[in-house]
Amino acid sequence: MTYEVNPNGFYGEFGGAYIPEMLFPNIEELRQKYLDFMYDSAFQKEFQQLLKDYVGRPSPLYLAKRLSKHYNTNIYLKREDLNHTGAHKINNTIGQILMAQRLGKKRIIAETGAGQHGVATATVCALMGLECIVYMGAVDIERQAPNVSRMKMLGAKVVPANSGSKTLKDATNEAIRDWINHPNDTHYIIGSVVGPHPYPDMVARFQAVISEEMKWQLNEQTGRENPDIIIACVGGGSNAAGAFYHYLKDTDVRLVAVEAAGMGIHSGESAATSVLGTKGIIHGSRTLLMQTEDGQIIEPYSLSAGLDYPGIGPLHAHLIDTKRAEAVSITDAEALEAAFFLSKQEGIIPALESAHAFAALDKIKFSNQDVIVINLSGRGDKDLGTYIKYLDQYG
Ligand SMILES: *Cc1c(COP(=O)(O)O)cnc(C)c1O
Repeated sequence: MTYEVNPNGFYGEFGGAYIPEMLFPNIEELRQKYLDFMYDSAFQKEFQQLLKDYVGRPSPLYLAKRLSKHYNTNIYLKREDLNHTGAHKINNTIGQILMAQRLGKKRIIAETGAGQHGVATATVCALMGLECIVYMGAVDIERQAPNVSRMKMLGAKVVPANSGSKTLKDATNEAIRDWINHPNDTHYIIGSVVGPHPYPDMVARFQAVISEEMKWQLNEQTGRENPDIIIACVGGGSNAAGAFYHYLKDTDVRLVAVEAAGMGIHSGESAATSVLGTKGIIHGSRTLLMQTEDGQIIEPYSLSAGLDYPGIGPLHAHLIDTKRAEAVSITDAEALEAAFFLSKQEGIIPALESAHAFAALDKIKFSNQDVIVINLSGRGDKDLGTYIKYLDQYG
């Protein structure tokens, strides 16, 4: 069994590049060059330097003693919440801005839902002095006002997508249209392990720094590189891909992918793609997605904006299909409870997305000897408005 992408961009039967003819030159240029650029020594030097001095890596691996005691096991937190801009997304945007520079692109476009990827993209564009245009659904612009202000302050232009449901998938369509119209000077920074090949593989490799650090940090603290279990939340799947990457072949390490079940898996208000999804094509790759029988995308729902996506990346579809990873679904209520619990147990307010990963501790089996790593993908400042509404209920 292999978990690596093949030269055509497939993980098993998932992946590929199903794109309009007009995008072929851009995608093909990226496909031919991304690995050579990425593993060029000057690129690696610059990437590693920025991860260290700008992002603040390595992110700590922290033994959560009170949480461990509560669950009678050994729980370590990989602290991606401590990165500059507050989440793992910056690892990928730093990598891709360096890629864009090598490709000679002067103009950067991105799509964003909750605005987290938009902020991470606007940040690296400011860092490099490149023009930045972020497409965002008009409804999301209303809902995520603080992130819109952040992007503007960082010098990005935020363009509303007014078609369809005016949310993430409509913003993605606008970004693709823009790229078709500006094939020569523009690079499209995709924010997760989704989209046509080579994006899922490229983003996974940039995020792989998470598990690369986990190996030596665990070795330092426990005397072995491999934990028994790694738990990560999955929207598109980039923080999970990064946390799993260097352990994919080590089948003694259990990989747990946690999805948002919203109001309940079968409530009609959910984003539990690996349970509800069927095989189909979304945003240029063949994967699992939530769709009607005639192939219309079903609007996903989660209280957490970062997990509110109707598909999962092709690597995750393959990991779940082959049973290499276990899928766990967590409702809004379970995630909120976990967020309040972690805050009081450890003094760490997690992003609502990351809280889903913590809630999985109540759903899976483990022993008191096990070493468990939870990828704490982001911090909760952005979710304070949501948390405040539930203070009386869970606080
Ligand atoms: C965006 C986001 C996610 C979901 O995206 P993935 O690509 O699945 O990692 C999870 N956690 C945080 C904090 C996010 O900002």
